[in-house]
Amino acid sequence: MSLSRRAFLAASAAAVALPPALVAAESKPKKLVMIAGTPSHGPGDHEFNAGVLLLEKCLKDTKGLEVVVFKNGYPKDDSALDTADAILCYADGGAGHPLVREKRLERIGKLMAKGVGLMCAHYGVEVPKDLGGPEFRDWIGGYYEGGFSCNPMWKPEFTEFPSHPIANGVKPFSVRDEWYFNMRFRDDMKGVTPILSAKPSDTVRDGPYVYPKGPYKHIQEAKGRSEAMMWATERADGGRGVGFTGGHVHRNWGDDNYRKVVLNALLWVSKVEVPKDGVASTVTEDDLKANLDPKKK
Ligand SMILES: [Zn+2]
Repeated sequence: MSLSRRAFLAASAAAVALPPALVAAESKPKKLVMIAGTPSHGPGDHEFNAGVLLLEKCLKDTKGLEVVVFKNGYPKDDSALDTADAILCYADGGAGHPLVREKRLERIGKLMAKGVGLMCAHYGVEVPKDLGGPEFRDWIGGYYEGGFSCNPMWKPEFTEFPSHPIANGVKPFSVRDEWYFNMRFRDDMKGVTPILSAKPSDTVRDGPYVYPKGPYKHIQEAKGRSEAMMWATERADGGRGVGFTGGHVHRNWGDDNYRKVVLNALLWVSKVEVPKDGVASTVTEDDLKANLDPKKK
């Protein structure tokens, strides 16, 4: 919040005697808890720790936002979630997904019910369909379903963006990554707004995908269709949800638009106003080399 807005609120509180608690709640920074997954891939890929620390660095000057980072998986003491306004989960998913294993669906579900935001990135959008699938459709609008969604490495051309705060200041860009598509979205995309959409070429649909190699008939049969690789939703409980399927290749954080759209989403999901031109940030070569997971012996 700007100083002038704060001053205005203080003044209006004095003038109309707003309860002090209301003023305090209004000026309290939003709290974003970012959970980075454990190392799993070779150098430069699935660098969840380095990725989250880089995003944290880019957000450090954001007014009205407090960021808490947990590295190397779900925290042993997760009490920080009790006061979170939003959660980012950038981690390996599937059955080992940090938010679904060890009966955490119930814990996270209670947070969602009180309107906490949730953004999941890359493998973090994948959960088993019988362990988290229905919840993720509700919480973030859709999820990667094994055998239905696919995960080729490709270079979509993102040329048009919706009128949505997450797209603020984002210019056309194209980056090679493992952009999953054909998510299991809510029926008829109800309440889901695609943010990054592009048409995979026929070659991309024909595979091979990263794993399993495919190709899947239903993916090939949808040739020519545009697909959503990032999307946003506002839930009935007041919470916001975002899915982003890129994030395999760490170096991609060096692309200004790729980074901006994710930083914007982190503000939006936390209910912090996204600047008109989006979140401004710079990333150096050293930043991209910082905090990488140690090489496996
Ligand atoms: Zn990946």
